[in-house]
Amino acid sequence: MAAAEDYRTQIAQVSYRNQAFINGKFAPSASGKTFVRISPIDGKVLTEVAECDKEDVERAVKAARAVFEKGSWSQMAPAQRKRILLKWVALIEKHREELALLETLDVGKPIANALAVDLASSIRCLQWYAETTDKVYDELAPARPDSISMITREPIGVVGCVVPWNFPLLMASWKLGPALATGNSVILKPAEQSPLTALRVAELAAEAGLPEGVLNVLPGFGETAGQALGRHMDVDMIAFTGSTEVGKYFLRYAGESNMKHVALETGGKSPNIVFGDVADINHAAATAAAGVFYNSGQVCTAATRIIVQEKIKDQFIELVAKHADKWRPKDPLDPKTTMGSMVDESQMDRVLGYIDIGRKEGAKVAFGGERARRNTGGFYVEPTIFDDVKNSMRIAQEEIFGPVVATITFKDDEEAVKIANDTIYGLQASLWTRDITRAHKVARALRAGTVNINSTDGGDITAPFGGYKQSGIGRDKSLHALEKYQQIKHTYIQL
Ligand code: NAP
Ligand code: MG
Repeated sequence: MAAAEDYRTQIAQVSYRNQAFINGKFAPSASGKTFVRISPIDGKVLTEVAECDKEDVERAVKAARAVFEKGSWSQMAPAQRKRILLKWVALIEKHREELALLETLDVGKPIANALAVDLASSIRCLQWYAETTDKVYDELAPARPDSISMITREPIGVVGCVVPWNFPLLMASWKLGPALATGNSVILKPAEQSPLTALRVAELAAEAGLPEGVLNVLPGFGETAGQALGRHMDVDMIAFTGSTEVGKYFLRYAGESNMKHVALETGGKSPNIVFGDVADINHAAATAAAGVFYNSGQVCTAATRIIVQEKIKDQFIELVAKHADKWRPKDPLDPKTTMGSMVDESQMDRVLGYIDIGRKEGAKVAFGGERARRNTGGFYVEPTIFDDVKNSMRIAQEEIFGPVVATITFKDDEEAVKIANDTIYGLQASLWTRDITRAHKVARALRAGTVNINSTDGGDITAPFGGYKQSGIGRDKSLHALEKYQQIKHTYIQL
């Protein structure tokens, strides 16, 4: 991997795609308006990006619908669709260094992570779904013997994907992979903080031979472009990742417009339960630190609540603090950096605000707690550990989306489960024990879409991902995600 200085040289050569991508072409927004992209690494302007609104949504939906009706993609032979998608994946692979650099500049994540996680996982996701195009079969129902009862899957139509900024390309890929593989037309609205990789990969899709209008990208704001998509009468589905609050808006938009399908991946406040019989307490502590400080804590599954058995709490927190030291924010362009910046100034202020709230609520800062690297002009926060937290405190209930962990203690298994389940969220949970019976019993009692045992991150494209309770509706990843992007048709033939 190149050194920080090499990346700085590369930045001078980056050419930003900063217009809307509609019907296979870049174009300014209909209003001509733009918005400024500031890099959180140093607070400097990167570029100005087209600010799309209702009229651009109108143009994109028209293009997406037209190509869907024409069948150039929706009716293409699956093997041919696969070839185009795999060609796209190969182009993304070829440009992975450039795309990783765009991601780092846009959201301030360490370049090493952008390459090894964001790009690597996006490529694997898109490739995995491309491979499904000609491998998933339809069904025949075991109905009456004098009939044929066919169950076939059809693309749902025009899909709006609205995604957040924490893993911009990866969250988009979780939607684009299954949506495109099943033959839909897509309109992607990236978060205002992170439009750059979405625009570049759309251009690469056109280069790979994706028909015009199948993938459109509209940079712009949620309240305008996002809402216009959510309320559009000719959009058949919204696939959303973001906050629980905005997820609920999309349910309302659908109810007040055409009852479009809505799939939601929303917030989390994941418990990380550490039992006294944990096999390797130092490893559990290192993983607990990684589980909350990775990506500056801007992860929906972040293990933000350490729920630890009373008798090992002091030892455990001391070890987590030792490991937290390795997560101090540094230059995101340095390949050795483990933690970069927050996504922008307002996210930094929000996180520092929550640290204040925690102090005022009576929790104790056991590590960190301050802004960092102020002299760079960028927006950095120290990894922060709160001790003496009660689960009813705001810092234990609300999604902070920053490198802040709350430590809560419990006496027995029953209390551990009760505390773990006591939030509005249910995205992910982790537990550490060497007792296999306890592990299974507790895993069953946890109301979460993913439970990790002796780990905090067992995610893979082959396994479904999504939330219970207010963490979402539906699943991303794995074959289960395909169902969201398809209608199921029953065709009955009387013999
Ligand atoms: P957000 O504010 O909910 O935004 C998500 C997306 O929705 C963005 O594209 C945003 O556009 C758009 N949006 C905002 N307000 C809207 C509105 N009124 N109508 C229509 N669209 C609107 O979330 P974020 O700040 O980008 O990301 C952080 C949140 O995402 C966290 O709460 C985190 O838990 C959640 N998240 C969940 C998952 C998951 O898989 N469950 C993954 C990652 C993140 P703008 O950017 O232009 O406002
Ligand atoms: Mg936002």
